[in-house]
Amino acid sequence: MIFNFSAGPAMLPAPVLKKAQHELLNWQGLGFSVMEISHRDPIYVKMTEEAEQDLRDLMQIPDNYSVLFMHGGGRGQFSAVPLNIATPDATVDYLNSGIWSGYGIREAKKYVQVVNEVACVETRAEGKTIPPVSEWSLSPNASYLHYCPNETVDGIALHEVPDVSVPVVADMSSSILSEPIDVSRFGIIYAGAQKNIGPSGLSVVIIRNDLLERTAQQHVCTVMNYKIQAAEKSMYNTPNTFAWYLAAEVFKWLKAEGGLDAMAVHNKRKSDLLYECVDNSSFYHNTIAPQNRSRMNIPFQLTNPELDAEFLRRAEREGLMSLKGHRFVGGMRASMYNAMPYAGAQALVDFMTRFANEHK
Ligand SMILES: *Cc1c(COP(=O)(O)O)cnc(C)c1O
Repeated sequence: MIFNFSAGPAMLPAPVLKKAQHELLNWQGLGFSVMEISHRDPIYVKMTEEAEQDLRDLMQIPDNYSVLFMHGGGRGQFSAVPLNIATPDATVDYLNSGIWSGYGIREAKKYVQVVNEVACVETRAEGKTIPPVSEWSLSPNASYLHYCPNETVDGIALHEVPDVSVPVVADMSSSILSEPIDVSRFGIIYAGAQKNIGPSGLSVVIIRNDLLERTAQQHVCTVMNYKIQAAEKSMYNTPNTFAWYLAAEVFKWLKAEGGLDAMAVHNKRKSDLLYECVDNSSFYHNTIAPQNRSRMNIPFQLTNPELDAEFLRRAEREGLMSLKGHRFVGGMRASMYNAMPYAGAQALVDFMTRFANEHK
């Protein structure tokens, strides 16, 4: 049995892959695959409409929001957001909670005059912490506040939506669909697909319709233009048709699994099991304050890093793959998105316990 803990592109649900495999030579009785048909064909358009409806059902997206399936992954949105909903002389607020937020900030600086960092991660008694919103230095005139609820590399999460007066924009690349959220609290939610939705390259954007009106058409690259993509139903140009199809299948799978309530329970159980293992052992540690711990990406270090290579070698031999931490952080990282079964978390914890006992 192989368990793949890759941070992204990450594992996909096995039933989805089996169905896609089965349909690869004959989709919907056509005699060829979904990749080989016009995106304007009614049969394909119907699939995209169902995908949108399934996503709306899963996330309970209100009617005054548009759903876009765009190109360019998560990082494409780092530029699309400021280009579409801010002006060059604007002030925008960003929470700097880790590596991905930092990339977003750097990109925004290319397009907007003032990029104000409202707060950054601090090391406090209980560990690495995102300061509470009451301590943030918010700009009264910001065009929006951007934050990343789940920092994929750092394993740091903000588990509440900031209560501010400007539109909240969230990079949910690694946490979308992992638990129910109140979409009406957000101006824009976006996510690169390769963690919890489907193949890389595709990005999902959920945007409150009044923000579409902010786009100054002449300045935004047309494929990245929210207003045009919304009017064209994400088909201004040829979309990534195969990724969209797989995303649609993942949405169906999620519905059959019990939706986001079921995913929240599933993801909490897996991450609790792993944090408990790390916390109850002096062999492993995690430096993040309990209230800011990610339930998707769990970094942990061996107290003796000289054993890192041996840990990874043994883990791989047991079918526990892609546990090496990000090159910026070191140590280990276990990513457990929706598709990771509980048995994967269990197998990892069993191995970690055995490895620690053997190296006492
Ligand atoms: C993976 C990731 C991205 C980048 O996605 P790309 O598709 O590679 O552009 C951005 N933000 C977060 C939080 C991510 O986890």
